[in-house]
Amino acid sequence: MSSQSKIEWTDATWNPTRGCTKISAGCKHCYAETFSERFRGVQGHPFEFGFDLRLVPEKLYEPIKWQTSKKIFVNSMSDLFHKDIPDDFIYKVFSIMKIADWHIYQVLTKRPERMKLLFDSKLKEFSKLKHIWIGTSVENEKHGKPRIEILRKANVSVRFLSIEPLLEDLGKVNLEKMDWVIVGGESGPKARLMESSWVESIQKQCKSENVPFFFKQWGGVRKHLTGRVLKGQTFNAMPKFEIVIPPNRTGILDLLKEAKKVLV
Ligand code: SF4
Repeated sequence: MSSQSKIEWTDATWNPTRGCTKISAGCKHCYAETFSERFRGVQGHPFEFGFDLRLVPEKLYEPIKWQTSKKIFVNSMSDLFHKDIPDDFIYKVFSIMKIADWHIYQVLTKRPERMKLLFDSKLKEFSKLKHIWIGTSVENEKHGKPRIEILRKANVSVRFLSIEPLLEDLGKVNLEKMDWVIVGGESGPKARLMESSWVESIQKQCKSENVPFFFKQWGGVRKHLTGRVLKGQTFNAMPKFEIVIPPNRTGILDLLKEAKKVLV
């Protein structure tokens, strides 16, 4: 959607699909839905169809055209593993990530069951790629913890947790095989409160397990006032990654040709 993002843990967003349907407590005040529905019926607007799920094939090539390396949040306005997105289309999205390998891709889902199934089958060829980070959302014990177990067993290289909006104390979290943890509170007019002890507990567990910890925000009704300082400091840790030099203009044109062949 955008070559720049205000989300603290990424540089850009890329939305080859738009829209989604709610699946768990964390979706209650989905920002993507609120944003998308604002434009329902506005002819020619990218969100003319509100939050209805749809494929956006014309966006597939976008990361190849970005000539500086970025961390890219894939599908900030959707969920790539939603049941109504065809396997073939998901395969195309991952093919582009493989081709444009000078970026880091952050793929976040609330549907890790399908993600795991696909990485055991049609997406197997992408499972060793370290520039593709696969994450799952965790908002509470009931929905979040089972997702962590699925992600742990998934055939992927880099795994992360987005614990946002954190809705309750998660207690002990099994961080085995997790490469990154992001924590954040809900923001917006109906934001549900997050207690500092819940965040501190996760931060301490990350520290003792040597898992990079990123504190995104306290959230609340006025998130610009609550900020993102925890215990007097900001936590910005991320997994280590290799910097890949992007190709020059001619190289990009060649890759676009290659992508066209893959995507037919
Ligand atoms: S899964 Fe994500 S995008 Fe889909 S409704 Fe829930 S919060 Fe919104």
